[in-house]
Amino acid sequence: MPKYSIEIGGGVLVSLFAFLLFRGVNIIPLLLALALMGVLLFALKSKGQLAAAGGRREARVKGSTPFSFDDIGGQDRAKGELVEALDFLVKHEEISKLGIRPMKGILLTGPPGTGKTLMAKAAAHYTDSVYLAASGSEFVEMYVGVGAGRIRDLFKEARKKANKEGKKNAVIFIDEIDVIGGKRDGGQHREYDQTLNQLLTEMDGIHTNEAPRILLIAATNRKEMLDSALLRPGRFDRHIGVDLPDKKGRLHILNIHSKNKPLHDEVNMEKIAEESFGFSGAQLESVLNEGAIYAMREGLPLVEQHHLTMAIDKVMMGEKTDRESTKEERERVAIHELGHAIAAELLRPGSVSQVALAPRGGALGYVRHNPSDDHYLYTKDYLEAQIMIALAGAAAEEMFYGGRSTGSRNDFEQSLNIVRTMVECGLTEVGIIEDRMMTPDRWAQISGSVLDGLMSRVKEMLAARRQLFTHCLNILIDRETLGGEQFRKLIASEESLSA
Ligand code: ATP
Repeated sequence: MPKYSIEIGGGVLVSLFAFLLFRGVNIIPLLLALALMGVLLFALKSKGQLAAAGGRREARVKGSTPFSFDDIGGQDRAKGELVEALDFLVKHEEISKLGIRPMKGILLTGPPGTGKTLMAKAAAHYTDSVYLAASGSEFVEMYVGVGAGRIRDLFKEARKKANKEGKKNAVIFIDEIDVIGGKRDGGQHREYDQTLNQLLTEMDGIHTNEAPRILLIAATNRKEMLDSALLRPGRFDRHIGVDLPDKKGRLHILNIHSKNKPLHDEVNMEKIAEESFGFSGAQLESVLNEGAIYAMREGLPLVEQHHLTMAIDKVMMGEKTDRESTKEERERVAIHELGHAIAAELLRPGSVSQVALAPRGGALGYVRHNPSDDHYLYTKDYLEAQIMIALAGAAAEEMFYGGRSTGSRNDFEQSLNIVRTMVECGLTEVGIIEDRMMTPDRWAQISGSVLDGLMSRVKEMLAARRQLFTHCLNILIDRETLGGEQFRKLIASEESLSA
């Protein structure tokens, strides 16, 4: 029936016009309006928007660029797990003899910028598949059914593209899967539920022996938000954590991204890897890029070590601001930062990488620490030292000015977070305790007692170094930065004088 709808419609219109003409009505304006509508409809259709209105717009897909696992730094464990899962797809015949079914879905979880998208692209390259990518937010629409239609289109498009390019496999990558795959709450968000249901249906429809075989790779940094139906075996069969890189991984990533940059012979990439503790792959890439920009600004042909060190500060804290501050304010900030730095050096010798007085991002000054090793387990002593370093800024201000300022807000927040961790891990005087059973008063009492005790210790430690403060203060005010080595020399000479 729908096949003839255009003919029937056309017939009805012609008869209508004939009737109007017969009755002597001027049909020219009507004809013009119809022509205009026709042009508009044609334009909409060619842009693919007409289908969207009917809930069937094609999901936006991005093409692939060849990308291999060698282009991904660090992440050896994640790459290994992924390659093993992909081998199930590549060695399809072999594994089917053992009755193993290939995977339908792989979930990559981890913080932003760690290389999840790169992994999906490399997976497509490794399995010689076509690659289609979409983001969870692209499936979100106000109108019920539109998102579901886009999911359907995405799978259809993957099959079509694979057939067209003569490939046996297709990899579909959905970033931010949590946007559509969040826990269903029974009716509040019907549109989201329908989109998720459609995704589940498509996944169930992936017959692993049917060509082209489809592998769905999804990424999220909020795995705990996902609906259990997505996570069950047979859907996302394998969950792979893509974590922040350790020092070795950071060095690997830096080496990959420095290949196209002219580096000075004296650049010590290992040092940059050490100083960029906690950075993601995306941030490391940015360090090299910003470093090259600093070299360009100075009109130099090669990127030098200090360009990369400045770039670390920029990526970590933001660009320098030209906020003007008064002399008193600068002095107070310097005393505050020196408090952190002196405490850090005394509690963890060799850990300060730089003390700076330049305003960056929201901070007026900062101390960059230089952890010698990556830690995954912390002792009570370590955490207490961490709190003392955080409190040392306020302690130094009290020592020199008799009171604190608003500059310690973040330090206190950080200290309270560490106390919370200590309580949760049974590292305080209250012993092992269920934190849900703690009243706000009890929390205040415990954190008060931990923080007061550590504040007294840090004040005592700093009070004995008044001379060191004044000595460093002059240099810091004058030069704006104090390098780690220089700072350690100053401490050593002061300590030998007072010994
Ligand atoms: P998001 O969760 O925000 O989508 P993601 O984990 O998918 O992030 P990618 O898009 O894969 O991160 O990485 C962003 C950029 O960071 C890459 O284009 C690349 O330049 C760099 N990068 C991230 N991780 C790595 C890595 N392990 N090796 C090399 N480069 C990396």
